[in-house]
This record gives sequence, C-alpha cells and structure tokens, in this order.
Amino acid sequence: MSSGKQSQEGAATRIGILGGGQLARMMGLAGIPLGCEFFILDPAADACAGAVGRLRQAAFSDTEAVRSLAADIDIATFDFENVPAESARAMAALRPFHPGVEALEACQDRLIEKQSLNDLGIPVPAYFPVGSRTDLLEAIDAIGFPAVLKTRRFGYDGKSQAVLRQHEDLELAWQRLSSPELILEAFVPFEAECSLLSVRSHQGEIKYWPLTRNLHANGILSLSQPGVFGPDLQREAEAISRRLMEHWAYVGVMAVELFVLDGKLLVNEIAPRVHNSGHWTIDGSVTSQFENHVRAICGLPLGETAMTGHSMMFNWIGELPDKHEFLATSGFHWHEYGKSARPGRKIGHATMVAKDAGALQERCQHIVDQLKGQWPKLWARMALKP
Ligand code: AMP
Repeated sequence: MSSGKQSQEGAATRIGILGGGQLARMMGLAGIPLGCEFFILDPAADACAGAVGRLRQAAFSDTEAVRSLAADIDIATFDFENVPAESARAMAALRPFHPGVEALEACQDRLIEKQSLNDLGIPVPAYFPVGSRTDLLEAIDAIGFPAVLKTRRFGYDGKSQAVLRQHEDLELAWQRLSSPELILEAFVPFEAECSLLSVRSHQGEIKYWPLTRNLHANGILSLSQPGVFGPDLQREAEAISRRLMEHWAYVGVMAVELFVLDGKLLVNEIAPRVHNSGHWTIDGSVTSQFENHVRAICGLPLGETAMTGHSMMFNWIGELPDKHEFLATSGFHWHEYGKSARPGRKIGHATMVAKDAGALQERCQHIVDQLKGQWPKLWARMALKP
C-alpha cells in the first residue's frame, strides 16, 4: 500500500480524512463513485462530512484517535490545515498521507510559508516577523503604511489580522491580536485577487485549472470566476505552483492564492488542500478539484481540468437564500453543506454555468437581482474588469 494504490482488485479504497467540514464532504461526494469509502475524524459530533462516511468524534490533537483511524484506512488526507503536526506525523508514520507533512507544516505558519516561498524565488509582499512591540515599530519603519499585521498561525478568512494605516492603529492591533507570533506584511494595493488550483499525481504529472478571479467581502470569499485572465498570468501562476509542488513532492490538489499587482503575481498564501475558490470546478470543469484530489491520492490517472463553459461561484455565508427562486434558472447548480447557519459561516455555494460569457452575465444578473444585502455591491465590483 505504499503508493496508495488499491490493495485488492474490486475492493474499495478506504480514505481517512482529518477534518469533517464541507471540503471533506465534497471529497466524499466525488470519491464514492470512484469506489472509495470515507472515514472521517472531527471534533464535532455533527461534522457535515458525516453524511458521506463514518465519522469518528475526536480532537485533532488526539493521536490515539488518529492511530485508531489509521487502522481502518488505506490512505489519509486532510480538509483542514490546522491539524496539529504531531497528529499528521502520527498518521504519516502509519499510512500514505497526502499532500504530506512538509507542505502542511509550511502552510500552518505564515512566516515559514513566506520564507519557503522566498527561498524558492517566488515573489511575496515584503514581510517581517513580529514578536514584540519593538519588533512592530521596527517593522513598520521598514515597510511603511499601510501594512497588515497578522497572526502567524490559525488565521483564516481574514480573521486574526488588522490593517494598520497610521501609528495610532499599532497599539490597538497589538492588543487585539495579542500573540507573540505575528507577521507584518506590506499592504498590497492589488488590481485583483486570484487563485490557481493544481493537482499533482504520484508520478509527478501536474494539471492546472484556469486561474480564478476571487472577490472577498470582510476577508471571506464571496465570488469566484475562472478563465478571465490572459495566458501570461496563467503561465506565471503555473510556474509558481509547479516549483512548490515539485519542492514538496506534492500529491493531491493545492491552491495558490495570489494578488495581481502591476500585471504581475505576488503570492498571498498557499492552501495545501482543495479550496473554496475551486468549487466552480464541480459544475464548470471536466474534472472537479475533489475528484482529482481523490484520483491523485489513490494513484489513479488524473482527469482533464479544462472549463466546460463559463462559470461563476456564489458563496453562501451566514445564511442561505431561498433556493426555490433560483433552481428554475438554466445553468444554476446548488450545493448545501448541511451546516447550521451562523454569521460568517460558509454554509453552501452555487455555481452558475453558461456556454458563453454573455449568457453567464445575464444569468448571474438575474440571480443577483433577487439577492439582498451586500450582493448588488459585490456584483458591481466583480463587473469591473481586473
Ligand atoms: P488571508 O487570510 O491572508 O488570505 O487574507 C484575507 C484577505 O485579506 C485577502 O484575500 C485579501 O483580500 C486581504 N489581504 C490579506 N493580506 C493582504 C495584504 N498584504 N495586502 C492587501 N490585502 C490583503
């Protein structure tokens, strides 16, 4: 079982997932038709991936529970990058664990992540480690305003970070983030944000989906649209992803989140897993990110990553709109995660697909006209071409 291939002809491949959120759930939905069975470890008794596999309720730090999960499975992966390194290592000692402990650990700490990118010659915003008020003052002297102060660990969706615009902001941000492990980054006045989803096989074959433009509201992804950037940026992003994947001997799907500045790319962060900005691939590409992740870790041939048409993903955060209003619209695909609604929580998404860009625009406009809250404003921002 060292390469993660199926042990017996016809027998299901048993996949263990550390983390039982919507990403694990969608891996299950894609992997079951490939003949896989899923075994999930999550601290929540109602983790939504429980719908697609056997759920074991345990803390991620419970290495005994990790070992006992290993006994049930052939291959392991994760849907959550804050799995403690010790648990990841415990699993990797017992079963093939993809995309691997090295990539996971590098992406858990924004400082190590940026240093790894720097070492590989990949452009990132200017940054300084900050462990004290003195460090913060020195870093702001070097970087200037505006700048972004972030915790090195456990930050996601814009949480645990603060934009500093003037000296008066420093003390408040220092107290609010209250951690001795911070990083100060230059604020990037980007033209657009985008991400590249790629997948690498055991044999080293890499496939890339088209670069996806992402729009965030309050640090959380709201809209994603693939295929709107030219071939130069696509090539630049692919070269970045290839360098990282080869460096880590990566197997599975990886997302590189990028800023476009002066027509060039800077890396914001890496997600060593399937990613929210790749959800459109379920309905809008030949093979979804979830299916290709499962194929890669199982040692199966990778599927094509081309777009099947034009698509736009809407993220449902905090509340679901009324699906009845939309399901009659041609090209509309609805995905509910089975999670209870809570402000700021990702509880579903939808993807609109169409044959051409004009039809996509019209269909999305019809959806946006019926959405309330922040949507009309976000849609207007998305209409501005990067
Ligand atoms: P993160 O949690 O680091 O992915 O940040 C969430 C969002 O905050 C990003 O998608 C950007 O919109 C914004 N952001 C993060 N870092 C920076 C930066 N250095 N400059 C400008 N915007 C940033």
